[in-house]
Amino acid sequence: MTSPLLSAKDVSRSYVAGRAGWFRRVPRFRAVDGVSLHVNRGETVGIVGESGCGKSTLARLLLALARTETGTVTFDDIDLSGLSTAEWRALRARMQCVFQDTGASLDPRLTIRTQVREPLAIHRRPDPAARTQAVLEMVRLGAHLWDRYPHELSGGQVQRVILARALALGPDLLVLDEPVSALDVSIQAQIVNLLKDLQEELGLAYVFVSHDLGVVRHIADRVYVMYLGQVVEHAPKADFFANPRHPYSAALLAAIPAADPEALPKRAVITGDLPSPLAPPTGCRFHPRCPHAIARCAAEPPVLRRLGEHEVACHRSEDINPVALVPRHIAAKREFA
Ligand code: SF4
Repeated sequence: MTSPLLSAKDVSRSYVAGRAGWFRRVPRFRAVDGVSLHVNRGETVGIVGESGCGKSTLARLLLALARTETGTVTFDDIDLSGLSTAEWRALRARMQCVFQDTGASLDPRLTIRTQVREPLAIHRRPDPAARTQAVLEMVRLGAHLWDRYPHELSGGQVQRVILARALALGPDLLVLDEPVSALDVSIQAQIVNLLKDLQEELGLAYVFVSHDLGVVRHIADRVYVMYLGQVVEHAPKADFFANPRHPYSAALLAAIPAADPEALPKRAVITGDLPSPLAPPTGCRFHPRCPHAIARCAAEPPVLRRLGEHEVACHRSEDINPVALVPRHIAAKREFA
């Protein structure tokens, strides 16, 4: 069996959240807490969860844009910690990122062509002009736009430029953090289809970070669900969408907007806000919002255990059906495979 392209083992990262007082240590919160995952060559791994659950921090840890406090991240069996600048530079070309804030990713003073060419010049790649043209064609951006400035482009066109820039050096992996969340639904579909075509053409692997399960179901091969910095479920896409095993996953799926909400009975969705990561609940972090919680849930943190095709962190994963709280005909609509 070949080893994964990208692998994270037990990675954690905390941040300062305030100042120390006379009798108080500097408050910190764990944005990512003991997460393990892997990404195989040519596949798409979705990372989902509510805003503030640690998805974006995890994306930065996977790219070594933030330092891990515990655990290791390896890319093609190379440990990303402790690389020399030259080693890191060579590896960086193989793993690229597309972040949420598309506007901030481009320089408003430079034309599209110049910006796509920039990484090729930095990495001293041969024939940058031809490669620039090739990647702009790859993302299907019309040649009449190549010498324009970012503000002259629509949101979808800007996203294509950012993709072209990320592809310029011929990476094996793209980490995409909410890449379509700022776009209209029709443009989202175009970009997701483009990503799928590029993956097929180039054999790319994607880490697709999103709070939008509707988008994730169209692109991911496997799904990791995060809650307050931890992975609570991991499963192949078909198993995940057809039969989620964690109550939080079931609630996220029940919250996907339906085509005709009026025709549907009230859906079982979680209530209450995400608890503060500064003081996460004891035991299972989901217990204050979980309709299945028992006394043990508040006392003992569940660990991720295999359950068929799933990995689930829930004490009751074997004796409850989390989807049961969702009306049956809604569950039956989940034929996404
Ligand atoms: Fe709910 Fe308990 Fe499972 Fe947590 S461990 S998801 S509180 S049933």
